[in-house]
Amino acid sequence: MADIINLLPDNIANQIAAGEVIQRPASAVKELLENAVDAGATEIQLIIRDAGKELVQVIDNGKGMSETDARMSFERHATSKIQTIEDLFRIRTMGFRGEALASIAAVSQVELKTRLRGTDLGTYIEIDNSAVRKQEPCQTAEGTSIAMKNLFFNVPARRNFLKSNAAEMRHIVDEFIRVAMAFPLVQFTLNNNNTQLFYLEKGSLKQRIVSILGQHYNARLVSVKETTDYMDVNGFVGKPDTAKKTRGDQFFFVNNRFIKSPYLHHAIMNAFAEMIPADSYPLYVLFIDLDPEHIDINVHPTKQEIKFDDDKVMYAFVQSAVKHALAQFSITPTLDFELDPGIQQLDAISKPFTEQQQTQSASGSLYKTFTQANQAHVIDNSSNLKHWKDLYDIGKSDSFSTGRSSLERPPVDRSSLDTGGPSVNTPLQNEEASGFSASSSLIDERWQDTTIDQKVPVQVHQRYILSQIKSGFILIDQQAAHERILYERYQRALQDSPVPVQQNLFPQTLPLLPADAALIAEMLPDLLVLGYDLEPFGNNTFVVRGTPADIQTGNEQASIEGLLEQFKNFSNDLKVNRREQLVRSMARNNAIPAGKSLTTREMQNVIDELFACAMPTSSPGGKYTYISFKLSDLAKMFG
Ligand code: ADP
Ligand code: MG
Repeated sequence: MADIINLLPDNIANQIAAGEVIQRPASAVKELLENAVDAGATEIQLIIRDAGKELVQVIDNGKGMSETDARMSFERHATSKIQTIEDLFRIRTMGFRGEALASIAAVSQVELKTRLRGTDLGTYIEIDNSAVRKQEPCQTAEGTSIAMKNLFFNVPARRNFLKSNAAEMRHIVDEFIRVAMAFPLVQFTLNNNNTQLFYLEKGSLKQRIVSILGQHYNARLVSVKETTDYMDVNGFVGKPDTAKKTRGDQFFFVNNRFIKSPYLHHAIMNAFAEMIPADSYPLYVLFIDLDPEHIDINVHPTKQEIKFDDDKVMYAFVQSAVKHALAQFSITPTLDFELDPGIQQLDAISKPFTEQQQTQSASGSLYKTFTQANQAHVIDNSSNLKHWKDLYDIGKSDSFSTGRSSLERPPVDRSSLDTGGPSVNTPLQNEEASGFSASSSLIDERWQDTTIDQKVPVQVHQRYILSQIKSGFILIDQQAAHERILYERYQRALQDSPVPVQQNLFPQTLPLLPADAALIAEMLPDLLVLGYDLEPFGNNTFVVRGTPADIQTGNEQASIEGLLEQFKNFSNDLKVNRREQLVRSMARNNAIPAGKSLTTREMQNVIDELFACAMPTSSPGGKYTYISFKLSDLAKMFG
């Protein structure tokens, strides 16, 4: 019998292997960008033509390659990043398999130009179908440029598999964003068919997020930061009101590698529970860093999955880090740095740990990891509590102090929430003081059993809300406060996040005076963004198709008439432009009036939303929204 086994020629073996690594232009984008990052580049350009089918080129100012390395880099299993199997468990670079360049060279025509930092002459190499066509010295900038041309020119079946340019381009942008997001200190640009799609300056992570995902997130990101001996989590989540109905703004990185983890996604959704509508997704950009020993990245090169030593720890850690961050953001005056006596009454504290509980929690890895130095969940007084801190800082010498009245135009970039919004309970502030070690059930308890009666806000004369804070108490004018909240919400609506319209089941007609009708007709587009869907019906009449969701059914017409009234009052003030007038009118018209009694929940919402505002101290018209009373001053008053 004749022997039938052959060794495959290199180019075929490489082509087969390439199938794993390079499936589409975007896969090459990812590999080339990661190589540039691994090379220590601080500026990286990505140049695309014809959605990458014609050209994917990455130019970096990284460390470059020697002549020999340049040639070697295209061999299969050629890598400078690991030498022994142990290295795999210490891996800090993005690449390590030494397959990417070999794969790219097997399925395209490649031109490499590279110059090692500190040398005079660079190397030029041309390869196609795994064969070197040309190699010569060349003049080139320090760093590396790799151009992948005519992807799959030699594998027509796979070329036919490529999708439309729009679809391939979307994949490319996705990969670009994932790498760029993880390295804000590196400048990235993306050019497609000679048009610049992205120019990302070096900067902070926050700046990077905003420049990639949109200006509307500016100042609406909540910082997440927890450190333990086992792992760190760092990054941002969007304030609840930035949650979107569509996905796309969710990013997880483990040791700077983008991963998809439905499991950790779930942990975050859980942390946001009740703060956002069930079918919406909050922004998150979170970086988990842990010793590479605890993860297995040796999975399929293009799969974005990862295995952890202990999934449950990750879940609990991520969830509580996000909850903690959100609790700080809600900035409720009940967020107090003193441990409240009420907390001592909680079972978790007052009842001794049973032996069984002790062994249970001590053997859990949460205990091990969270009870060490730098433990998570200790509130950092310095973070994010801007307005909350204002409560302490204002008018130290006065016997009572007020929110400043200010004529500045508020920067409208802070968030506030719809009624029915945040219900973050106050976290117990200090684990050490509260004397319990965290097991996962206790962590949950921390977030549930924390309603502290003493601090439930109280309504005074159906006009003011009295709320205890650390330094004393504050008295909030419910109407002025709500006006401020709505004002900022409507400003945002005009900028980028329209107020949802609630369609009326039975559209009503609204007959108006000719002058009013003309006024309304001019403002229709703005009104729509603000939640009023009106349609001209001829004869100075409009059909009211929808109103903002928070207007009570039956009140639609009154709400529009009231708005018109307010608007006309403002119209005398010529300094204020029309849109501003409209927003102020709407805020005034729709604000909770004095004389309306509020539930505890409603009061809490007003407090939460007020302190999430950019300018919580005054109403749009310049009235104080609250006055604070200091314990020390009260004591003086009592003599
Ligand atoms: P890996 O990244 O897994 O090591 P690659 O095939 O992507 O494998 O790259 C092979 C080697 O080529 C790398 O280990 C690195 O030494 C070198 N290399 C690739 N791209 C660059 C670059 N842009 N700058 C400097 N060296 C590079
Ligand atoms: Mg690589």
